Amino acid sequence: MSLTFGASAEGFDVVVVGSGGAGLSAAIMAKEAGASVVVLEKMPYLGGNTNFASGGMNAAGTKQQLAAGVTGDSPELFYKDTMKGGHNRNNPALLKTMTENAKYAEEWLVDIGAKFCFRKGRGGGQSIARSHGPCDGSAVGPEVLRVLQKKASEDKIEIRPQNQVVDIALKDGRVSSVKVKTPEGEKVIDAKAVVLATGGFGANLDMVVKYRPELKGFVTTNHKGAQGEGIELAQKLGASLTDMDQIQIHPTVVKKDGHLISESMRSRGGILVNHDGKRFCNELLTRDVVSQHVLAQKGGEAYLIYDQSIFDSNKLSRGYYQNGYSVKGETLDELAAKLKMPAENLKATFKAYWKAAETGKDEAFGRPEMVIALNKAPFYAALISPGIHHCMGGVTINTKAEVQNKQGKSIPGFYAAGEVTGGVHGGNRIGGNAVADIVTFGRIAGTNAAAYVKTVR
Ligand SMILES: Cc1cc2nc3c(=O)[nH]c(=O)nc-3n(C[C@H](O)[C@H](O)[C@H](O)COP(=O)(O)OP(=O)(O)OC[C@H]3O[C@@H](n4cnc5c(N)ncnc54)[C@H](O)[C@@H]3O)c2cc1C
Repeated sequence: MSLTFGASAEGFDVVVVGSGGAGLSAAIMAKEAGASVVVLEKMPYLGGNTNFASGGMNAAGTKQQLAAGVTGDSPELFYKDTMKGGHNRNNPALLKTMTENAKYAEEWLVDIGAKFCFRKGRGGGQSIARSHGPCDGSAVGPEVLRVLQKKASEDKIEIRPQNQVVDIALKDGRVSSVKVKTPEGEKVIDAKAVVLATGGFGANLDMVVKYRPELKGFVTTNHKGAQGEGIELAQKLGASLTDMDQIQIHPTVVKKDGHLISESMRSRGGILVNHDGKRFCNELLTRDVVSQHVLAQKGGEAYLIYDQSIFDSNKLSRGYYQNGYSVKGETLDELAAKLKMPAENLKATFKAYWKAAETGKDEAFGRPEMVIALNKAPFYAALISPGIHHCMGGVTINTKAEVQNKQGKSIPGFYAAGEVTGGVHGGNRIGGNAVADIVTFGRIAGTNAAAYVKTVR
């Protein structure tokens, strides 16, 4: 296929499209391998959905996990949990790559300055705790972006906001240039290789509904630039797509504006209670299953309830309270009154949970882990309902992050990483696995793009 644009004024070895975690990881690796690199970002701000990643980053066998005394984890167990959580739909080779390399991705982030600690409590669908995040209990994404942006700046990588890639050209079957819309007009930049790191399409509700009609009317947790045009750019070059209809709804989202209440609130001990003040499921099931349980409750909604000890250990809780996403009750009676639910039911729910936490056996719902007693007043509740959250599907890549065409062949010079790709997470993403995915495959894409460029000089 040949698809060339007009004359260009400039050129780079590697053009990275998108400034989220995947794009910046790729840019740094490509630059450090000797390539000239530019990052193009369509929005006026940098970082995409990576800005919002609040819970954590999963990795098996890290120094922090071992130091916390968690010794039973391994890439194999990480693989098994993720494959099961993804309904055995995950691409085995891609998943193996992620589960084996997440540890090195986490180590790399720490090496370039991330202040990461191990986080207690397992996430939905995990058989062991393997989450990492900032030691001060704050959100993971901003810390990942902070160190990636710092490193990119030290490496003198230019990042251009308000530069939207609207087309990618091939010459003699190889990637050759990109067409970019900028505030000064359209321009062409020559590129020996392109890394597509444009993220998902979770904010493009028409596109979501095209693949999953039953998601019409759901709110989204995604940043507004998550429009999925990267998928169209790749399709135009003949790329094959994987699992486009696999779109995750997250169970704990604020209905009025799509604000996410992080899964880490449940990992740390929070429970779900319906309008009658009763629990209705094991809160540590995978997101797709918990979402279905919530949708089956009155109004398709429920309350996430937690105590002061979770409030103190998870910085996100302060934001939820200050922004009016949660209410506080000094006692369970006061909380029940604020939530207009029968106090005796809520108190009976807690009494049963306290007993379960004490004995380590949740007879009612089989929750496998109760990391805290959940009895430190005051108590907090956030009204939640499922919302569109993650696109598991996207552009097909191989383990080298090379974009695949419909015949299963790599398109020379074309790489992709992060949420724009499909296959790693199968039919359901496990919380904390996206950050592991974007940094792992971003690094692979950047390294391989730089190596490829040397072959076409
Ligand atoms: C609220 C929320 C909380 C989350 N919490 C977690 C968590 O705790 N742990 C976890 O593992 N995952 C979490 N995730 C998922 C995770 O944040 C994302 O999957 C991941 O950050 C995606 O990274 P990315 O680099 O692939 O894409 P993004 O970070 O979305 O970056 C893509 C960038 O490409 C830009 N772009 C798009 N098209 C173009 C174009 N044509 N030209 C130029 N630029 C373009 C976008 O504007 C964007 O800046 C969360 C997601 C959300 C929405």
